Amino acid sequence: MPGDGERQVKLSVSDVAVQDKRVLLRVDFNVPLSGEQVADDTRIRAALPTIGHLLERGARLILASHLGRPRGEVLPELRLDPVASRLSELLGRPVRKLDTVVGPAVEEAVKGLAAGEVLLLENLRFEKGEEANDPAFARQLAQTADLLVNDAFGTAHRAHASTAGVAAYIPAVAGLLMLREMEQLSRCLKSPVRPMAAILGGAKVSDKLKVIRRFLELADTLLLGGAMANTFLAALDYPLGASFYEEDLIGEAEKILEESEESSCCLQLPVDLVVARELKAHTPFKTVPVGEVDEGWMAVDIGPETAALFGGIAEEAGTILWNGPLGVFEIAPFHRGTEAVARAVAGSSAFSIAGGGDIVAALEGLGLAGQMGFISTGGGATLKFWEGEPLPGIAALRDK
Ligand code: ADP
Ligand code: MG
Repeated sequence: MPGDGERQVKLSVSDVAVQDKRVLLRVDFNVPLSGEQVADDTRIRAALPTIGHLLERGARLILASHLGRPRGEVLPELRLDPVASRLSELLGRPVRKLDTVVGPAVEEAVKGLAAGEVLLLENLRFEKGEEANDPAFARQLAQTADLLVNDAFGTAHRAHASTAGVAAYIPAVAGLLMLREMEQLSRCLKSPVRPMAAILGGAKVSDKLKVIRRFLELADTLLLGGAMANTFLAALDYPLGASFYEEDLIGEAEKILEESEESSCCLQLPVDLVVARELKAHTPFKTVPVGEVDEGWMAVDIGPETAALFGGIAEEAGTILWNGPLGVFEIAPFHRGTEAVARAVAGSSAFSIAGGGDIVAALEGLGLAGQMGFISTGGGATLKFWEGEPLPGIAALRDK
């Protein structure tokens, strides 16, 4: 099965000698900034084990990351200087930040780089060749190094120069974070402890068609909530008032409902909904059974009966995969459905994994992220991995 067992077949930083080697370490330092400061250094901290591993073994370290979406332009507010300062504080050693990604200044700096020293290149996406995966740019990037270590799991679903193209010129291996993601995410696909419950929520069915079908194959129960469940309720002809759903995906939702009858997986939709007239904090709301959403009202969360049903399934599960919040968690009190299910997942003895930007933000906001078995650092990359699609950034890594 694609997506499975990469850990066994891909070389990692633990398998190769790095003493005195010029190591290009692709990291995900795409952090939120506030002015000249790093507002949240979680992603920088996540790369520290690999950085430490390489420095202890005498690598000459060249770090590279993207930040934001400069689309091939040099944007002063997206320079990596704040990242360099924060990294330097965390490492307790100097980090020399360069103002370019490739070219003579980089070549010069790498020549003078000693074992155990750290350089940080400028924002990769200042170069058009990065996202275009331009071979000439990839070659220039590769020229300054002997080895690529890729620790940027969050970008592994993109075939960019630094994640894929470079591997045509120098060997590429996984960093420790990349290795952990591959190991944890495939752990639940390969011989999971059963029963396996998959929870899918969030906004759009269209983003998640493949993962819905994959979970129907893999899981014992598939719990659907959030706005995406609305499209399925619409496919069952329930009135949805002013709820958000995808009209053009109703046919696809019907097909999936039919497919679920053939599959051994039980697909469970909400049985009750929290409805409001507008998306505003502390706006009046009520709980109704599905089928009783009146005109002008919109479904904004799963109801308490659904939360109890989903929570009960989570408590009995051996493995839980979760992507997408079950309601508009950003607006109080429509986080309650997500919260109730998250508490059940946290209390369950199951191995639980959450992946995706918004569900991770929701769990962090609820203070429950620490109680999950594993929180994936990828959004789109995690979904692609679960879909079973080969990820270009993983495919580019050397096989064992
Ligand atoms: P993830 O990032 O975890 O993959 P998505 O990006 O698919 O999740 O969806 C997250 C968004 O879905 C959130 O902004 C949330 O407010 C929204 N959402 C969830 N339930 C509903 C709903 N019933 N109506 C409208 N939006 C919803
Ligand atoms: Mg999202």
